[in-house]
Amino acid sequence: MADTFRALLVEKTDTGQAVRFADWTDADLMAGDVTVAVSHSTVNYKDGLAVTGKAPIIRTFPLVPGIDFAGTVTASDHSNWKPGDQVILNGWGVGETHHGGFAGRARVKGDWLVRLPQGMSQAQAMAIGTAGYTAMLCVLALEDQGVKPGDGEVLVTGAAGGVGSIAIAVLSKLGYTVVASTGRPEEEAYLKGLGATRIVDRNEFSGPVKALAKMRWAGAVDAVGSTTLANVLSQINYGGAVAACGLAQGADLPASVMPFILRSVKLIGCDSVTCPMPRRVQAWARLATDLDRNKLAAMTHHIRLADVPKAAEEILAGKVRGRLVVDLA
Ligand code: NDP
Repeated sequence: MADTFRALLVEKTDTGQAVRFADWTDADLMAGDVTVAVSHSTVNYKDGLAVTGKAPIIRTFPLVPGIDFAGTVTASDHSNWKPGDQVILNGWGVGETHHGGFAGRARVKGDWLVRLPQGMSQAQAMAIGTAGYTAMLCVLALEDQGVKPGDGEVLVTGAAGGVGSIAIAVLSKLGYTVVASTGRPEEEAYLKGLGATRIVDRNEFSGPVKALAKMRWAGAVDAVGSTTLANVLSQINYGGAVAACGLAQGADLPASVMPFILRSVKLIGCDSVTCPMPRRVQAWARLATDLDRNKLAAMTHHIRLADVPKAAEEILAGKVRGRLVVDLA
């Protein structure tokens, strides 16, 4: 009997799209030079959009969503990889145009894979997931711009979400004074447990945007976009920087150029999907050393593949705290 595995599939329907589960074999997978037994995937915000169809993330149907996974190579025609190697995948259109992590197996290009850092388990890698890897890209961007721990407070928006939670944990371990912007005051103890020194109400950043406001932050990691990012920019100290990766509030940016031309503020975009391989390897190496594993465990919740459709709704509703790992093994 062929070796089967469970897969979550999104299909196109007359009214939009629908989810169903199937038992697949390797023959159902797309072309690629490395096949991986997937042990864990995760539910990121983008997966929420893909599974619910609230945004056109999936561009070929039927498709297995899941923009990231960790697992063990079972077959390889790629010179970098051999059976038994432990790997991580983030992005590259996986879960959008290529079958992704919400299945027991995946077949992808070997060029897309990152080796699991030593001392990190596959479950931990996916507790970090694309959200955490992107949080690290944001931290690297702030470092590149010369934002240092002693410079003043660093703001993290979307704090109780996946990107926000890991950004707080990493920045605090690196010695930054971190302030968490959240709409969930009930998560104050959680956010302080991750390393935030205090929380601020996210409504502070949702009002009308001034061209320049009182300088408050040496830097910021923004997972929210829109009015929030515009307000944050207006409050950055002279020469400071914002690393922007998200659009949880919206994709617009109703901002003024004044922070850039009068305060030399830098706005750095962070993309995880087609980020060049050396930067990915750097980010994962830093995640192996600069993220407290106890804090990672405290922000992580494990679910089954069958729970993914419900989790997809919840992450879009802003109800997920920290990270959701999907156990597939
Ligand atoms: P989560 O849903 O886990 O976190 C998003 C957080 O944003 C929420 O928890 C909430 O934080 C806050 N938020 C949600 N809605 C609003 C709103 N209307 N106004 C203000 N704040 C809001 O998502 P992730 O952490 O996984 O992803 C965060 C963002 O980053 C997403 O937009 C995602 O698409 C993007 N992203 C981009 C990547 C890239 O490559 N550029 C890679 C990974 C993620 P709280 O409850 O604390 O207020």
